[in-house]
Amino acid sequence: MAGKDVKDTLRKLVALQKIDAEVYEFKRLIKDLPAELGQVKALYEKKLTRYRELEAKIFEFDRARKAKELDLKSKEQDIVKANTVLMTLKTNREYQAKLFEIENMKADQSLLEDDILRLFDDTSRVAAEVAKEKVVADAEEAKYAAEKQKVDAQLKELHDKVATFEAQRSVACEGIDATTLAMYERLVENRMGLAMVPVVNEVCGGCYMRQNSQMHNRLKLCEDIVRCETCARIIYLEAEL
Ligand SMILES: [Zn+2]
Repeated sequence: MAGKDVKDTLRKLVALQKIDAEVYEFKRLIKDLPAELGQVKALYEKKLTRYRELEAKIFEFDRARKAKELDLKSKEQDIVKANTVLMTLKTNREYQAKLFEIENMKADQSLLEDDILRLFDDTSRVAAEVAKEKVVADAEEAKYAAEKQKVDAQLKELHDKVATFEAQRSVACEGIDATTLAMYERLVENRMGLAMVPVVNEVCGGCYMRQNSQMHNRLKLCEDIVRCETCARIIYLEAEL
């Protein structure tokens, strides 16, 4: 590559770098934005799970209470039946035995009534918690929905920008030889979007390592593509282009 061609290539690469720095940043955002949204979503889902767990608890309490209420009803019927039988008994022994049985059933009845009251209490306690958690979950859902809308709009805008810049990019690549372009593109990929850096005050603009006088001469001569020995980026002197 003759000096004039090297300069021409460097100029083209500098122009391309401007586009690629933007594209790199757009692509980084396209990658990072959904992850940030994912965190908001995870928080919302955590609150929703908590809310649903409490709702399930209420369902369980109700189910248990209804079962106890059925038990209570049959216990009451048993007591009525036992009382009827009691009236027909002839011997004192039979009478006392039945009476004892009825007392036991009444004790069971009382326990069931206590259980039912306790389950009512449990339900109203958890219902208050559910109401509170519903407010929290709704707020998180609204926050997530708003954030998602914002991120979706940002992503659409970023994709549009990338498309525009990609079109500009293919024009900017014209006239750069394939080997140099491939080398440059690898650097963009591996050096966080920055492949072309000027040397300012004898220091590489990418890694800030001082360039020796031999390097400096090569940069001034512009006879080949020069790369920083430390960070491997393509370096140039702005004044020479
Ligand atoms: Zn460097």
